[in-house]
Amino acid sequence: MSPNAYAQAALPKRLQHFVDGQFIDSADSFPNISPIDGSELSQVAEASKDQVDAAVRAAKRTQDGVWGSLKVSERADWLYRIADGIQARFDDFVAAEVADTGRPVSQARSLDITRGIANFRTFADLIRTANSEFYETSTADGGEFINYVTHKPLGVVGVISPWNLPLLLFTWKVAPALAMGNCVVAKPSEETPTSATLLAEVMRDIGLPPGVFNLIHGHGGNAAGEWLTQHPDIDAITFTGESKTGSAIMKAVADGVKNVSFELGGKNAAVVFADADFEAAVDGVLSSSFTNAGQVCLCSERVYVERPIFDRFVVALKAKTEALKVGSPYDEGTTTGPLISKGHREKVLSYFRLAVEEGATVVTGGGVPSFGNVCDDGAFVQPTIWTGLPDTARCVTEEIFGPVCHIAPFDAEDEVVNRVNDSAYGLAACVWTSNLTRGHRVARQIETGIVWINAWFVRDLRTPFGGSKLSGFGREGGRHSMDFYTEATNVCVRIG
Ligand code: NAD
Repeated sequence: MSPNAYAQAALPKRLQHFVDGQFIDSADSFPNISPIDGSELSQVAEASKDQVDAAVRAAKRTQDGVWGSLKVSERADWLYRIADGIQARFDDFVAAEVADTGRPVSQARSLDITRGIANFRTFADLIRTANSEFYETSTADGGEFINYVTHKPLGVVGVISPWNLPLLLFTWKVAPALAMGNCVVAKPSEETPTSATLLAEVMRDIGLPPGVFNLIHGHGGNAAGEWLTQHPDIDAITFTGESKTGSAIMKAVADGVKNVSFELGGKNAAVVFADADFEAAVDGVLSSSFTNAGQVCLCSERVYVERPIFDRFVVALKAKTEALKVGSPYDEGTTTGPLISKGHREKVLSYFRLAVEEGATVVTGGGVPSFGNVCDDGAFVQPTIWTGLPDTARCVTEEIFGPVCHIAPFDAEDEVVNRVNDSAYGLAACVWTSNLTRGHRVARQIETGIVWINAWFVRDLRTPFGGSKLSGFGREGGRHSMDFYTEATNVCVRIG
């Protein structure tokens, strides 16, 4: 399908909750606004407290009596059916993701929806092949014992996800939670409710037992999100979003001492050594700073370049940044869509103004593009590069979450490691060098959950994913997800 064809897709105009196997509406609703042109895409039901409660009750009942007692192979088969159901409606999901976010069609096809499918298949495969710990123990009185660990579901898991990679991040939590035998009550971001609604349609159409997957729409604070975290029958919360929201959720679950897994914000660094493959490093930083208009938690907003190649690097990155095609995802060749909303654009523009006040040199961008068409009512900003700020500037320390990076020179390996680590966040970093010994040495010292050497955004779903400091805690992915979404019980048996 051509990009333009996705603009014609028939998407639901009224987005409802999916509770106990049924779509249900609410008295209240809110508009889902297109970031491409400001038009209203749909009305979204705003869940009441009673509806959140009904969703949790349905999940609890089904977990106890149905889903939690299925055999591993049966649960794995269901996850494959969900994946196949998304695959069968691949273009609908692409259309939903592009309409809600304005991301390029090529990205939705190659990344978002593909990964949504992969999330279900990966965790189905994981539970089919998972092994456990086993120990032989002897005691001073001659007793002999074996120990083995069994993993039981936690119960009901609350999933709360953000808008930046809607289906990808939603299913990154829903899939492992279901795989491990939990039932789920999930709330997508109020900014991007459509792909989660299509996922609920898939669950209904494949006949997933009612109550296994429940979807509630609504806002976060003093609304569906907060009510979910406060619900006494939720056994764990898995959350992706801003660090300050993570902090609010932690307080909400404190009294109930609930399990939490937090994937939060970042202020990620890319480090380019003078010996790096120059073109690969420029292309890598172009991707890591501007993919999805900079709205990926793993994007690099801080770039450190070794002084001998600093000027050349800035010139090269500027040229490639100015060659990005900003505009409607429905136009052929668009590389960079809008920000998620005008509200978020106002936040990003406030940093554009602040950078100038803080003394930045604006290498490129710094404003709002003009299109002369409906996109002028969208939420676009120009991809932006700054130089000249001190490491203490707010624009260099605070997460902006837009298509922007600051480039600074450095002189020595130790110095740059210290500057990378001098951050309140600890999510991800990239190191560009042809000296792999140095790459490994630097990677070991960087205080983030993931370090790429000569790469960015490559994710093997079996590896641990998460951050340190304000970027969260806990790791998900592969067996790390198994650890989070299950209760491990050690069984100790006398054998002699
Ligand atoms: P957000 O924290 O504003 O919202 C995320 C979700 O939390 C939404 O569904 C929202 O409704 C809900 N929410 C808000 N307040 C709540 C409350 N008090 N109680 C319960 N739920 C509440 O985040 P966002 O703006 O949607 O997403 C962008 C942020 O997410 C950025 O900071 C980005 O770095 C981060 N992020 C992190 C990762 C990661 O893996 N570490 C991945 C993607 C995005």
